[in-house]
Amino acid sequence: MPPPSGPPPPFTEGCHRCGKPTDSLLPCPDCKLVLYCTAHHRTLDARKHLPLCFAYTSAYGTYIAERDKLRSFLAASRTGMIRGDSPRDPFAVLARAFHTVPETKPYLCARRDLAHAARDLGSRAGRDEQCTHYLEILRHDAPDAFGVRFHLPYLLLSLGRDQEFYDYARWWYLAYAYAATGGPNVEMPWMEKDGDVFEEMHINSPAVELWEDVDMLVSFMGLKMKLFLDLKALQGVTDAAVDRVPRGMVEAMRPHIPKSAIILGDKKMLHCEDHSGRIKVLRWQLRDLYRQIDELNEHFWTVFLEGRESAVRPSAQARYGLGSREEAVDVFGRCRGYFYALPGAVDAVKEIKKDVDEESAISDDESERGEPVGPPVKVEP
Ligand SMILES: [Zn+2]
Ligand SMILES: [Zn+2]
Repeated sequence: MPPPSGPPPPFTEGCHRCGKPTDSLLPCPDCKLVLYCTAHHRTLDARKHLPLCFAYTSAYGTYIAERDKLRSFLAASRTGMIRGDSPRDPFAVLARAFHTVPETKPYLCARRDLAHAARDLGSRAGRDEQCTHYLEILRHDAPDAFGVRFHLPYLLLSLGRDQEFYDYARWWYLAYAYAATGGPNVEMPWMEKDGDVFEEMHINSPAVELWEDVDMLVSFMGLKMKLFLDLKALQGVTDAAVDRVPRGMVEAMRPHIPKSAIILGDKKMLHCEDHSGRIKVLRWQLRDLYRQIDELNEHFWTVFLEGRESAVRPSAQARYGLGSREEAVDVFGRCRGYFYALPGAVDAVKEIKKDVDEESAISDDESERGEPVGPPVKVEP
């Protein structure tokens, strides 16, 4: 299944009718995933919401019925494929191997339909629900017959679920990029929680090139970029404040600076006065990702920096080759909303491009002079 075109559709955060962000929002009593500031606004929205709400609640009913059916089937059939002694959760026995049991199909389909019905509600809570179902589908069904893995990156990033995105991206690399081209490594344990977002990923691995996934590298860069810009902004406040702004005021400003929940939730990092080390590491990682993406698709950064107007998306059915301009435009269509809404991200990409271009000009000079550019290349006999 080809990756989907276009960014995830927008969603409402406050009142579903007027957008007002109040603490005491009333949830729709049926789906509970759409909120209103007053009963009056709920009534005004009813015509639009009720068909979607009905679709969601019936999808939920189907999902529960299929789940119970599959549970009793798994509990009843203690055949060779289902090992273990009467586990409390029959789903746990199958772990990530739902694809080995055909009877799981109606359950997975019902769960996917429920995720789509939740998405169509158009609210933040609905989108969160969609995400959770997608992650569970992927957890159960490693080969990912529905292709939900392509939807997850920007969905998680746009919801601000940054740590989950990172854990997911990390797992994705291990399960997919490092697996043979035939399919994902289904033996790979499900994603570990709370991976270190500053760690080095093995993005120079030839396996990643083999898989040629520009999409994943770009979304990965999306998170690293958010962290980089957050730390630079925090450092900027610290540096500018020296002797000029009362310390208490700077400390009070800090929680309003980061865009990433990861940094916001880390008190030590939030109030740290020296981020230069981390900024340096992230800048290096961003450059590396930039180069990697450029190698996989030489058109991508041009399309990215040309911006929104020039990028006309190919149709959803369009077939394109890896590394083609069409692929670049398609990936850009998915990441555009995220990067262009992140203050400073596009300028940071321009700066990285300048650095990378300068570096490659220097290494070209060196190679012309016959000086070694990198480690010696081992030649296979
Ligand atoms: Zn309202
Ligand atoms: Zn509802």
